[in-house]
Amino acid sequence: MNYTANQCHGTVCTDIWPRNCTKKPVVERDGKWYCKIHDPEYVEARRAKQSAEADARWKARCHHFALHDAKLKAMVGLTMEEAQALTPALARAAPKLHEATKIALDLVKVVLYDHPDDDIAQTQKQIIEQALAKAEGKEAK
Ligand SMILES: [Zn+2]
Repeated sequence: MNYTANQCHGTVCTDIWPRNCTKKPVVERDGKWYCKIHDPEYVEARRAKQSAEADARWKARCHHFALHDAKLKAMVGLTMEEAQALTPALARAAPKLHEATKIALDLVKVVLYDHPDDDIAQTQKQIIEQALAKAEGKEAK
């Protein structure tokens, strides 16, 4: 692309082909001029901010799952007496629990699609699949 002295070196991709930015250049970097939006330092700062935000969102999600995982493990670790005491209530809730478990499995699969190496999600998937296998009588014992 050809640039005139008083033209931004950024490109915009609103059409089929990228075209020169027509905004007023305000800053010079390495001998090239850029408008406020295409200033490489501003572009980098914006990218860093977005990735920091994405990172924070992901960490919050992992923290949430870690708490949830601890609860799941606590539930799985019930004694036989505790589990039997729960049985009548669980039996009443069974159809809803079965439905909820299938939905949970779908959600975990969505997480694993984006993050196949997520240990917490892998563990959740295993626990949920074991629970479903039991509920649906597909388990050996
Ligand atoms: Zn520009």
